[in-house]
Amino acid sequence: MTLETLAGWSRRLYARDISSRELAELYLARIDRFDAQLNSFITVTPELALEAADAADRRIAKGERAPLLGLPVAQKDIFCTEGVRTTCGSRMLEGFIAPYTATAVERMNLAGSVMLGKTNMDEFAMGSSNETSHFGAVRNPWKPDCVPGGSSGGSAAAVAARLAPAATGTDTGGSIRQPAAFCGITGVKPTYGRVSRYGMIAFASSLDQGGPMATSAEDCAILLNAMVGADSRDSTSVERPREDFTAGLSEGIRGLRIGLPREFFGDGLDPSVRAVVDSALAVLRERGAELVEITLPNSSLSVPAYYVVAPAECSSNLARYDGVRFGHRCESPRDLMDLYTRSRAEGFGAEVKRRIMIGTYVLSAGYYDAYYLKAQKVRRLIANDFRQAFAQVDVIAGPTSPEVPFRLGAKSADPVKMYLSDIYTIAVNLAGLPGLSVPAGIVGNLPVGMQLIGNYFDEARLLNVAHQFQQDTDWHTRMPAAFA
Ligand code: GLN
Repeated sequence: MTLETLAGWSRRLYARDISSRELAELYLARIDRFDAQLNSFITVTPELALEAADAADRRIAKGERAPLLGLPVAQKDIFCTEGVRTTCGSRMLEGFIAPYTATAVERMNLAGSVMLGKTNMDEFAMGSSNETSHFGAVRNPWKPDCVPGGSSGGSAAAVAARLAPAATGTDTGGSIRQPAAFCGITGVKPTYGRVSRYGMIAFASSLDQGGPMATSAEDCAILLNAMVGADSRDSTSVERPREDFTAGLSEGIRGLRIGLPREFFGDGLDPSVRAVVDSALAVLRERGAELVEITLPNSSLSVPAYYVVAPAECSSNLARYDGVRFGHRCESPRDLMDLYTRSRAEGFGAEVKRRIMIGTYVLSAGYYDAYYLKAQKVRRLIANDFRQAFAQVDVIAGPTSPEVPFRLGAKSADPVKMYLSDIYTIAVNLAGLPGLSVPAGIVGNLPVGMQLIGNYFDEARLLNVAHQFQQDTDWHTRMPAAFA
């Protein structure tokens, strides 16, 4: 049977060609058969999936029509799901059963989607390779000795191998776009504030944003429609007029001005990635877009600024895991201090501890001005660069990642090397802008992504450009042969 997109499955559901239950069974069977090779799921929820699928089938039988109704999805294990284990990839939350459901997931559930399970991720979303997960690394379905990217590597690998037609991710510095690129799928990081962060376990609150991951831009638009919207339980979520992200997908892109930041095509970019991105840009030019060289002069400061701001916020957010209220608690503590320190020492992995230490340091009285305050100023400069760029162009394009997926273990000993994986994605989070990654080519059986960055709340345009690109290319339809 052809493994359809969400849009394709939806048509077949309404043609009564398949039921939601059969669809859930099909994907659960694929997870059963293939996930031992990938480790893309931390928890699979077959009973809940079948229950939700049956409910969807009843709604469909009554004549209800809705774009997500009856369609299976996987949820990144950073989203709280009531009654279902929610680990955030950490030993700290290994046994944590969430008492409520994240708004983004709740909205997808109400739209009728069927959760298959919770996907693997870097611990507390800190990483670019999925190797920091307490539940073990995820493998890239295109080449099993390579990483799938991170932190939403489980979601990306699951969608690439078609163990789920779509999934959610979160992106603090690139964690939707980079794994989407590494696995050959489409992933959208929305404007900060578009998607409620309520129930999405916090890493760096001023940067974190949830978003969709699927094979096509059209499917991402369908998911985004369900996920967005103001939420009284997240004061940073933004009230916007209701938008249908699928409505403008077919519009032409003639005359669209695409900015190519000089800084995204310089040193450090793998020539084979560059070649792929260049040919992808040529496709857009063929469609009538105009390519304009631009500059984002403060780009080189984005990784350093991020690695002050993100650890600062994470050190504060992760202070809640103290062994008292929830999460891992050490055995027979001697006293309160022992309870705190041992629970945290045992519950957190090395990368999380590194970040907490850096964050605590940059926020400490003596260093706050020198590091944290300075980083916040740099953040403003980076946002200003984009503001100036968007005065000249409609969207910005470039590579998502400077290289193709690397081998497992290749960067584990060198955190700074790992941090540079996000060199083209991080500035977007610092500025709060939307960005996406589309599959743009394959180099030696490894996928390469092209990134598109938009102005605030311009997701519809980004999706339109990506969809137009996908009319002329078939990279997004390719799947790794081993999972056919
Ligand atoms: N790789 C970056 C980090 O380790 C970004 C992670 C993310 O976007 N969650 O912080």
